[in-house]
Amino acid sequence: MVHAVLLGTAQDGGRPQPGCTRPCCHELQPHEIRHPVALGLVDDSGQGHLIEATRAMGDQLRLWGHPPLASVALTHAHFGHVDGLGLLGKETMSVRDLPLHASTSMINLLHATPMWSVLVQDGAIKPLPFEGTTSLGPGLSMTAVPVPHRAELSDMHALLFRGPSRSLLFLPDHDTWDETLAHHDEVSIRSWLRSLNVDVALIDGTFWSFDELPSRSQQDVPHPPVLETLERMGERRKGDAELVFIHLNHTNPLHRTESEAHQTVVQNGWCVGEQGMRFTL
Ligand SMILES: [Zn+2]
Ligand SMILES: [Zn+2]
Ligand SMILES: [Zn+2]
Repeated sequence: MVHAVLLGTAQDGGRPQPGCTRPCCHELQPHEIRHPVALGLVDDSGQGHLIEATRAMGDQLRLWGHPPLASVALTHAHFGHVDGLGLLGKETMSVRDLPLHASTSMINLLHATPMWSVLVQDGAIKPLPFEGTTSLGPGLSMTAVPVPHRAELSDMHALLFRGPSRSLLFLPDHDTWDETLAHHDEVSIRSWLRSLNVDVALIDGTFWSFDELPSRSQQDVPHPPVLETLERMGERRKGDAELVFIHLNHTNPLHRTESEAHQTVVQNGWCVGEQGMRFTL
């Protein structure tokens, strides 16, 4: 059965975040540790397609149940999404000719970065640029959807997956709703998700509110706060996609199910991502 498994729910730095000695990180128990975001998809033939190559790939493949890996796709070049790429190479997994789907700008960066270009030269990975909708395997397709996100290294694409019965949008990072919606000529999140025909939307929930950041960092690491997404969406209505917040910063109260923030999300009919969560497509 075609399905997706959420393999990490944290922002690039993970939870705990290195260097953080505040209560959000320093007293975490082992069961509270969260990997950077990644998603595993399994097509109708049982082959696995991994979205993002994080440094936690070993744990993530274990959590996923180690389906045979048939492809990898990357959304963009920020470190938490790509810092496990080297694990595909000969020191560790030693993959051969593994298709790696990414944007042309991300692929150019792969070729220009010695520690990654060696993966191409060794024949471990085979970079394939996004083009329209690609079939990943039986019953599973992927469409790359460009979204504005700070692009010092590469551009950013959300990824839309379609199975036989449902579709899932993976949008871990973007800068602002205004820019993303303007880019797609849409007036609301609801209308955009409807135009893409999305059933489940795993979306950027990095910060609960801007209170988590000193004001300068709001420009350095822009993400729409969950509070703003909730304001724009209101309560879940019939026909709405299921919103699942992912890519949570270590400071985000949504990491704690007992927090008021978590309850607010649930009361509005939405959802907070959990590692291991499974979605049938
Ligand atoms: Zn990120
Ligand atoms: Zn922390
Ligand atoms: Zn990013």
